[in-house]
Amino acid sequence: MNRVKTEIDLKKAVATAKTEHRSIGFVPTMGALHEGHLSLVRASRRNCDFTVVSIFVNPTQFNEPQDLLQYPRTLEQDLELLEEEGCQIAFFPGVEEVYPNGKGEAPVFDFGSLESKLEGAHRPGHFKGVGQVVARLLEMVQPDTLFLGQKDYQQYLVLKMLVDEILKAPIEVVLCPIVREPDGLAMSSRNKLLRVDQRKDAIELSKTLLWIKENLDAIHPLELKEGAVQRLRNVKSIVSVDYIEIADAETLEPCDTLPKAGFAGLALGAIQMEDIRLIDNVRL
Ligand code: AMP
Repeated sequence: MNRVKTEIDLKKAVATAKTEHRSIGFVPTMGALHEGHLSLVRASRRNCDFTVVSIFVNPTQFNEPQDLLQYPRTLEQDLELLEEEGCQIAFFPGVEEVYPNGKGEAPVFDFGSLESKLEGAHRPGHFKGVGQVVARLLEMVQPDTLFLGQKDYQQYLVLKMLVDEILKAPIEVVLCPIVREPDGLAMSSRNKLLRVDQRKDAIELSKTLLWIKENLDAIHPLELKEGAVQRLRNVKSIVSVDYIEIADAETLEPCDTLPKAGFAGLALGAIQMEDIRLIDNVRL
């Protein structure tokens, strides 16, 4: 595996692969890698000839300074895991490499109503930052396929819009399923920050989303959402429920009436456990 820190070295390595007509798969991450990330790396290894994984904790997508400060960083361990997975390039640039003209000069993309609901409503500017870093990484990597996790479903919709409608880039965007702990908790780098009691309570989020799925035919969506929020508010370590939503899978528009046959939607939720924020979703 090639360990690369600069744009020049990255472009050189990718150019060699391209002259050999190898298809390039790209997995952007913020590191502190777990099985969820590795499932994307494996999908890229299966579908493409050459896999590039980036590890970059992007400052422009953090709306809470404390969240950025405490975000877990485990670079050496991450590099070993990527080596074991047979990844061809691990790209871990510094902030100056990603934003050579300064963070303030990065382009600002408009994702319409997608960026102001759910995660966007609770994390102002978050998707602008995600768009900036992924656009820049795509410019450097020039992949054929981009692999993203369903865990961050709204981010997937934003990035699909970035690739297809804004950049109009010939890049296929592949969505990979959520990888969970044996008890159902969606894997997340932030899980590493949970205390034992918080970790125990954290599974209530996925359990509650599954409860919505199981009762979708029997209970009105507005009642389901209300019931889900109440359930979560009763859990000791959950200090607040940012949102629970039942939404259309394409637009994330809320579904406030009994869903019709063939409804393709998701139940999505976000909770706060002290200063650790967890999100999850299930397909309905
Ligand atoms: P992050 O490092 O959190 O920015 O995530 C990098 C990529 O891994 C994103 O596309 C995430 O959606 C994906 N990812 C994170 N957690 C999981 C998971 N539990 N299952 C599947 N994909 C995940």
